[in-house]
Amino acid sequence: MIKLKHIRGQIGSESAAGGAVLLIYTGGTIGMKESPSDHALRPFDFSAIMEEVPELRKFSIRIDACTFDPLIDSSDIEPAMWVKLAEIIRDSYDSYDGFVILHGTDTMAYSASTLSFMLENLGKPVIFTGSQLPIDSLRTDGKENLISAVEIAASRESDGSASVPEVCIFFNSLLLRGNRSTKTDAEGFGAFRSPNAGPLARAGITIRYDRDSIRRPPEGPFRIHTALDTRVSILKIHPGITEQVARDILLGSATRAVILETFGCGNAPSRGWFLKTVRESASMGKILLNVTQCNRGTVDMSLYATGRALSEAGVKSGGDITTESALGKLFCLMGEHPGNEAAAALLEKDLRGDISK
Ligand code: ASP
Repeated sequence: MIKLKHIRGQIGSESAAGGAVLLIYTGGTIGMKESPSDHALRPFDFSAIMEEVPELRKFSIRIDACTFDPLIDSSDIEPAMWVKLAEIIRDSYDSYDGFVILHGTDTMAYSASTLSFMLENLGKPVIFTGSQLPIDSLRTDGKENLISAVEIAASRESDGSASVPEVCIFFNSLLLRGNRSTKTDAEGFGAFRSPNAGPLARAGITIRYDRDSIRRPPEGPFRIHTALDTRVSILKIHPGITEQVARDILLGSATRAVILETFGCGNAPSRGWFLKTVRESASMGKILLNVTQCNRGTVDMSLYATGRALSEAGVKSGGDITTESALGKLFCLMGEHPGNEAAAALLEKDLRGDISK
């Protein structure tokens, strides 16, 4: 069970004249230290992070903070924690210009993707960041990531609106749309890419925003969706896949939806048993979504006979959505709609900049 500790007004200027940002610390490498006993990295508390980044005090904005207790390695992230994050943002929405979420990199793209669907009509920045090296290590990437993320979260346009009213990941000088991002590097500082959508900003001497790509502030009131239905499986198609494996996943009683991770532009084996199982799954009313295994490019089931057969069997196209985003979108749509047809009808729509038109 995650509790929250509030650390108010400890960082930055006490005056809110320059704006205010809420920092939410969940854990991750950025705040981990090597334990002397077994040399494994374990999270340490938030005040230690602040000692390592005294530069935050130079901001002319107020920075409040709250931390998860216990802190987690993001491999332990669970939907209940996404709900917690959404509720913190809702409860403090009117008090801050933006939010920075310190999070482990391993599942950051999943969290940013799902949050983007949970937060409707978001008019303020929600910036996920973290680091590949702990913040107390000499060559850490954490300081630069954290400082720029705070600056972006506080940034406003001349009309007073938020510069980036979106859920994003800031990492290694790039601001990426959260639901387009994926972790592509387990070692390098450039851990994230958004292969089907350009960066929303680049941090150099100044932070340059790509205003044509950033979504416009919403018209409607901000609200959160906290009903998540996680009964989703992912079937990664591969040569040699067996009928029993495909049947277990596609027909399993525990799933409402299956993401098919297919070859190239949405192709799968054309063998009789495979298509028969897909049809059987569709006729059981399950939601089937086709997402490509390729990092870049889009599903187009009209190109090859093998893709057409999937489409004719009732499989929906994920277009150029990432698997992380497809998962989060399904969790939210299924949580919102008890009927599979209603949920499936929205899947192919661009809801949060998650697929290209
Ligand atoms: N295992 C860590 C986590 O995701 C890795 C990281 O933060 O980079 O929490």
